[in-house]
Amino acid sequence: MSDSDSYEINASAPNHPDAKHVDAHLVIDKSEWVPGKHPDPQQRHEGQTEYLERYIQCLRCGQEALNERDLPVECDRR
Ligand SMILES: [Zn+2]
Repeated sequence: MSDSDSYEINASAPNHPDAKHVDAHLVIDKSEWVPGKHPDPQQRHEGQTEYLERYIQCLRCGQEALNERDLPVECDRR
């Protein structure tokens, strides 16, 4: 994505109706199956081989975080 067209996502995010603004970021909810046991012991269970990890990702800078508070204040487009 070039610098010139990345601003269009910022304006409307037509492909991501769920995107929301968090400070300077424009984030969407993501989830991904991760092999192994859940890092949180309360969500682990016997014989678990993979777990669904939920996280958020900024459409602009690509930064991923487990929750909004973990995002850096600055949104650096790369
Ligand atoms: Zn960002």
